[in-house]
Amino acid sequence: MRGLVTKSTGSWYQVVDEQGNRYECRIKGKFRTHGIKSTNPVAVGDWVDFELEPGQQNGLITELEPRKNYIIRKSVNLSKQTQIIGANLDQALLVVTLASPPTSTGFIDRFLVTAEAYSIPAVLIFNKLDLFSEEGLEVLAEYMAIYENLGYPCYAVSALEGDHIEELRDLLTDKISLVSGHSGVGKSTLVNAIVPGMALKTGEISDWSDKGKHTTTFAEMIDLPFGGKLIDTPGIRELGIVDIEKQELSHFFPEMRALLNQCKFHNCRHINEPGCAVLTAVEEGEIEPSRYESYISIYNNENNRN
Ligand code: GDP
Ligand code: ZN
Repeated sequence: MRGLVTKSTGSWYQVVDEQGNRYECRIKGKFRTHGIKSTNPVAVGDWVDFELEPGQQNGLITELEPRKNYIIRKSVNLSKQTQIIGANLDQALLVVTLASPPTSTGFIDRFLVTAEAYSIPAVLIFNKLDLFSEEGLEVLAEYMAIYENLGYPCYAVSALEGDHIEELRDLLTDKISLVSGHSGVGKSTLVNAIVPGMALKTGEISDWSDKGKHTTTFAEMIDLPFGGKLIDTPGIRELGIVDIEKQELSHFFPEMRALLNQCKFHNCRHINEPGCAVLTAVEEGEIEPSRYESYISIYNNENNRN
């Protein structure tokens, strides 16, 4: 039988077959994982083959189908452990706020680099639109212009007042979307505005990397009544940038990617090399200073978690 993994609790996986029946499955002992090392070989969003025990509702996952993409995170404390958060995503949404609490451009840019590295289209949702004065709205428009010019769709909404929520419904329809964002930006309020009565698990389950505790994160796929699915990732504040070589980093900044073959040295780091096309673009104002700062920060492995 073939099914979609819609929930994972570490050792048990909920699998839904093509008729919509749900089964609780474990993983068969020997398992091909397509070469990805992680604490969970199967993740929410995976398509799997499974067998049912005769007369039982419990099954055994026997085969994992190749993934279109996947997103991983790295434990902060258990540095060698990685966890697949979701697979086969159509898009990754980051909910941010410019106030109360402000999301830093460093955090936004790390998210975007991660999405680029895993080939997942990224979308920014600027929430709490109702808090902005006229002056604030101008600043918001400037931020949105920076990211829209780079090709990332941006939405400004108010989850509290229900402004522009219909646009988000259109965005989510018939897609598998991962939603992340710092705690307090309004993810729960937003999901509730999109689907009244729908609750996120945010806050109920502690982050496994917090304070060295190894609690399991229960990622879950939620069906949207208008078509499409949301992957709720309780406790996950940051996607992990794993396995990115420094030399590759500039490829994940769209505004740098376009310039790379114009640098004088083919192995240019874009830090202080003569004839660097990226540095020239920064000097000429064609690359946003905040974006270049994020590049340097990630390049230097600075852990900007704010
Ligand atoms: P989460 O941690 O991301 O799930 O955030 P919550 O949904 O719990 O929201 C955090 C706080 O922000 C709550 O006090 C919400 O009422 C408030 N909030 C959420 N969305 C908005 C919004 O659009 N405007 C305003 N002013 N407050 C909001
Ligand atoms: Zn360069």
